Amino acid sequence: MTETAPPRVRAEIDLAALRANVRTLRAHAPTAAFMAVVKADAYGHGMLPCARAALEAGATWVGTATPEEALALRAAGIDAPVMCWLWTPGGPWREAVEADLDISVSGLWALREVTAAARAATRTARVQLKADTGLGRNGCMPDDWPELIAAALRAEAEGLVRVTGLWSHFACADEPGHPSIQAQLDVFREMVAHAEEQGVRPEVRHIANSPATLTRPDTHFDLVRPGIAMYGISPSPEVGAPQDFGLRPVMTLTASLASVKHAPAQHGVSYGHHYTTPGATTLGLIPAGYGDGVPRHASGTGPVLVDGKLRTVAGRIAMDQFVVDLGGDEPGIGSQAVLFGPGDRGEPTVEDWARAAGTIGYEIVTRIGSRVPRVHMNVDLNVDLNVDMNVDMNVDMSVDVNKAPNSTDD
Ligand SMILES: *Cc1c(COP(=O)(O)O)cnc(C)c1O
Repeated sequence: MTETAPPRVRAEIDLAALRANVRTLRAHAPTAAFMAVVKADAYGHGMLPCARAALEAGATWVGTATPEEALALRAAGIDAPVMCWLWTPGGPWREAVEADLDISVSGLWALREVTAAARAATRTARVQLKADTGLGRNGCMPDDWPELIAAALRAEAEGLVRVTGLWSHFACADEPGHPSIQAQLDVFREMVAHAEEQGVRPEVRHIANSPATLTRPDTHFDLVRPGIAMYGISPSPEVGAPQDFGLRPVMTLTASLASVKHAPAQHGVSYGHHYTTPGATTLGLIPAGYGDGVPRHASGTGPVLVDGKLRTVAGRIAMDQFVVDLGGDEPGIGSQAVLFGPGDRGEPTVEDWARAAGTIGYEIVTRIGSRVPRVHMNVDLNVDLNVDMNVDMNVDMSVDVNKAPNSTDD
């Protein structure tokens, strides 16, 4: 792809927005450290640029699901504390110990793996013990906790591990007021208290994801772990819209119109002919489909901004393309269609697509496929000065600011 060719489809990632979101979230949790959750390629936004931008904006930890993600951060030179929590037997335990990752341990089998790796590496492993306080997913159940704590303390006495954290995860923090939130918090306090009575001295105790960070200050403890909110997306409609919390969407997904043509009335559109033109009209072809992560469940419902007007997906979303009814308008072939973005220009948002597809914003951005190039904007931290002074200042002006110091070659 040359620089001037209009892209078939692309995802612009506004790192100035991401940094602003990190600062805003830190203001919501001023006494807690900030772990930037960048699992699943930073929810589709690109793991490394997002991790770097979050650290520039004051995050002091980075969190991933898998050890492979965490090791990739280390390989790229990120030396901040990195924690990963989704382990399986035979995983890269030794590599993780040697990379000084914080390794989450939810049971005795995992503690055995990590102590064996520490022995082999002749290093002390950093271990965070995970409590299942009610999520019913990963984590150590309260009944098994005393045994895990005792075993971890023995391993600590041998110098094999250092218990750096005690932590848990909420089931329903995205439903403010749900009784399980308080119940989990009570259990967490008890499990932490037991561990500390036995002699565990963690660096950090933590349980808050994005919705808890935004709505429950009493869950912040020593550290918060926001993911979705950092990308400017709401955890759920119940929690509120991103702008209610001063958060700005980071990803904008655009495509170039690949065809505009006239069609007569009663013309079937796309596979299955689930849409038929109500009258003579024009049809626009958007060259992006479920192979790019555009959810097929949004067939007939997904919104797109084309030439300043909101249109709806006509008929089925195919693997590589879908059609919109342009109602007689004739925007130029190659003109930009915006599937979602911050919403400033009247374009749909991630939340609109989540509603259209019957899913959550998390899934919309995370599924954007590897065929879609991520274009990271405002990489340079200096643009924030301008963005903070005038939020209306657009990307192009920020890019000009970036270019100014080294524009000697033109
Ligand atoms: C994904 C994840 C987070 C971040 O959750 P958000 O709802 O995106 O803020 C935090 N902690 C754990 C354990 C996770 O898996």
